[in-house]
Amino acid sequence: MSDKPRFLADAMLGNIARKLRLFGFDCKYFAAIKDDQLLSIAKNENRILITKDHEFVNVCKKQDIPVIELFGQDEIDQIVEIYKKTSLTKCKIDMTGIRCTICNGVVQSIDKEKIIDRIPAKVAQNMQQFWLCDSCNHIYWKGTHIRNLQKFIDEINEKL
Ligand SMILES: [Zn+2]
Repeated sequence: MSDKPRFLADAMLGNIARKLRLFGFDCKYFAAIKDDQLLSIAKNENRILITKDHEFVNVCKKQDIPVIELFGQDEIDQIVEIYKKTSLTKCKIDMTGIRCTICNGVVQSIDKEKIIDRIPAKVAQNMQQFWLCDSCNHIYWKGTHIRNLQKFIDEINEKL
């Protein structure tokens, strides 16, 4: 969806980037990247920069680059800050619409038969729906990792 904000998380915010991707956002993240490179990606790709670095926030503001400065101590508060500053009102995971947590690629549903040789037998027995990253071919299913996030999501929504 084109009306969704697109993000660029700085190198300190890998966990936040992965969460935003699961929540369906296009969020670029690089473990090693210079500030200059972040600024040019944000500028060229029209992305909102996310950082905890106050001095870097000032650099962004001087260059008219949209930036969200995080103050929260934990991931819940940080996600809440991002949602509030972009006027997002509800956090959820909709598997058809997540971005790949590994590479930020587009994830689409795929027939179980096509990937059955790539998943553990137990998962194949218990799960019917699967999703595949267009870019890195990582396979997703609604496993315990996703289900365990529901409490995290509920806590975010209570604060929104
Ligand atoms: Zn991927």
